[in-house]
Amino acid sequence: MVCLKQVPDTSEVRIDPATNTLMREGVPSIINPYDAHALEEAIRLKEKVGGKVTIISMGPPQAKEALKKAMSFGADRAILLSDRAFAGSDSLATAYVLTVAIQKVHESDPVDLVFTGKEAIDGDTAQTGPGIAQRLGFPQLTYAIKVRDLNDGWVTVERKTEAGREVAKAMLPALITVEKELNELRYASLPNMMKAAKYEPEYWEAKSLPYDTTQLGLKGSPTSVVRIFPPPARSGGDKIDGMKDPQGAAAMVVEKMFQQNIIMTHPLAKGGKH
Ligand SMILES: Cc1cc2nc3c(=O)[nH]c(=O)nc-3n(C[C@H](O)[C@H](O)[C@H](O)COP(=O)(O)OP(=O)(O)OC[C@H]3O[C@@H](n4cnc5c(N)ncnc54)[C@H](O)[C@@H]3O)c2cc1C
Repeated sequence: MVCLKQVPDTSEVRIDPATNTLMREGVPSIINPYDAHALEEAIRLKEKVGGKVTIISMGPPQAKEALKKAMSFGADRAILLSDRAFAGSDSLATAYVLTVAIQKVHESDPVDLVFTGKEAIDGDTAQTGPGIAQRLGFPQLTYAIKVRDLNDGWVTVERKTEAGREVAKAMLPALITVEKELNELRYASLPNMMKAAKYEPEYWEAKSLPYDTTQLGLKGSPTSVVRIFPPPARSGGDKIDGMKDPQGAAAMVVEKMFQQNIIMTHPLAKGGKH
């Protein structure tokens, strides 16, 4: 299973200086980039060891377009969880909605692996994948940069950590969250594109599943966004001309770095501040 989110292309979102709000109009919606890599990996594993790839997404009706596009890469089934009852969900409620739907799929079509992206480029929390794993009771392998092996009921991945790489192994069924380094995206094939053009994702409303309605949407969200505002505009920088007096310019750069605590020891001070 691949959890896929449709997101605004945040590289194109601008802030309206008059109202201080995000200008989303005309901004294209795309498949969350990390999720594209998650899908690619699921399809590669299907090509290697067989199985079936199901994509699941929670979102408004227009998220159907992201699912159709994702189908063109070779997935077998796509499910859109769309209902007003889901709107305003925070990470906890989002993970809950996705979990109940994954459990429903699992009843008829056992799920060995769930893939999510590392994070969504709009919400940026990186909470949803671990939240789903916790609720499903699956082991979680986060920040995967390589799937090394999948056999005998185990999956082995390389994970990115602050200190370097870590090789970790988990018993199936498991959940993996992925980094972009995991794989190279491939182009959709023409037959898959044609199949996807005709494909209609399944729609699952809240009432199609045994949801506890108190855990959905705004009601089921322990956090709430109180205010949203853009970061303060950066003030203009200084230009230090190093052509005439390179040594003086270098000293000025060092002085400024010291003043702004970028370096802690003043080069001219004995001992300096530490
Ligand atoms: C009070 C409140 C109100 C909100 N209202 C809205 C709203 O009205 N509309 C809105 O769009 N957002 C809303 N959000 C944001 C929404 O809660 C987050 O988008 C959601 O919690 C997922 O978190 P994230 O985007 O940080 O994803 P991350 O946790 O960073 O995502 C990690 C991975 O999880 C998977 N994933 C995440 N979300 C989904 C999804 N929906 N479907 C399938 N897979 C997914 C993807 O694989 C993704 O790569 C609201 C948040 C709060 C707190």
